[in-house]
Amino acid sequence: MRIVALEEHFTVPRIVAGISPDAVARRGFPTDPNFLWAQTIKRAELADLGDARLADMDASGITTQVLSVAGPGADLVPGQPGIDLARAYNDALAEACAHHPTRFRGFAHLPLLEPEAAAEELHRTATQLGFHGVLVNGATDGRFLDDPRFEPVLAQAEKENLPIYLHPGIPTEPVRAAYYDGLPGNFSFTLALSAWGWHADTAIHTLRLALSGALDRHPGLKIVIGHMGEAIPFMLDRIDETTAATAKVHLKRSVRQTILDQVWITTSGFFTMVPFMAALMSFGADRIMFSVDYPFASNARARAFLDALPVSAADRAKIAHGNADRLLRLPADHM
Ligand code: ZN
Repeated sequence: MRIVALEEHFTVPRIVAGISPDAVARRGFPTDPNFLWAQTIKRAELADLGDARLADMDASGITTQVLSVAGPGADLVPGQPGIDLARAYNDALAEACAHHPTRFRGFAHLPLLEPEAAAEELHRTATQLGFHGVLVNGATDGRFLDDPRFEPVLAQAEKENLPIYLHPGIPTEPVRAAYYDGLPGNFSFTLALSAWGWHADTAIHTLRLALSGALDRHPGLKIVIGHMGEAIPFMLDRIDETTAATAKVHLKRSVRQTILDQVWITTSGFFTMVPFMAALMSFGADRIMFSVDYPFASNARARAFLDALPVSAADRAKIAHGNADRLLRLPADHM
């Protein structure tokens, strides 16, 4: 079975090394060298865009990874240096994709502190590098994409018919201080990230795009979120009920309709049945796409979960590749 995974990460250590430690620390990435994101955590796996990565994919029968940058990036670097950094990341990714065109595909990395330049880079990566969308890591300068400054990026993605993958980022400093600080051991860090904060943040990012009217203004814009929908499948009835009256005044559609029209979800990092059943019942098999979150999650565990899903063969094929092939317009010769 053809299997496409689309929240799969890489890094280029020489590019990350060019980001000032100050910028990295301000954004909340730990500067303790034992934890420094993308420099020690899974460093070898993130940096490998060749044999070791392909062997791990082969062992679990994963056909194609759509690759993206997670961790410190151009969204921390203002001005021309940020623009140059994003271009360097995208050029490195394009080179890896050119070496393995059926195995690797790309999501663009954008210099979001310069939104006009980010829109231009999105256009360049789509038209010259053959990328299939964009991945954004949480808030930029403390703001999500519904902030008016990012309008050029939303407009460009809609115009190019390319999805924006809203990936978690570390919650902003005021949020960390108010909600997560002061717990024993490394609980503050874990609760702010993988245990809760990443997912709450990304759900809020998605909901702000709907409630602000940004998705109404860009009805062709397609949003992807990982982690089995970042808890939105479980919350969708409640969100829809409690926003219904205001939605009638301020939005063109109910919040449920907006989300189901314009949001796709992936299985990244979530390989248990309870969240999958909520996702299946609220979004349906046409909106769920297989992903791993490699190298932070295991290809083998994700594949075993895909094989165990209680769905028809047709729905399993949609989740494994069909929905992603259509949304990302992956080339037919890769089928
Ligand atoms: Zn990820």
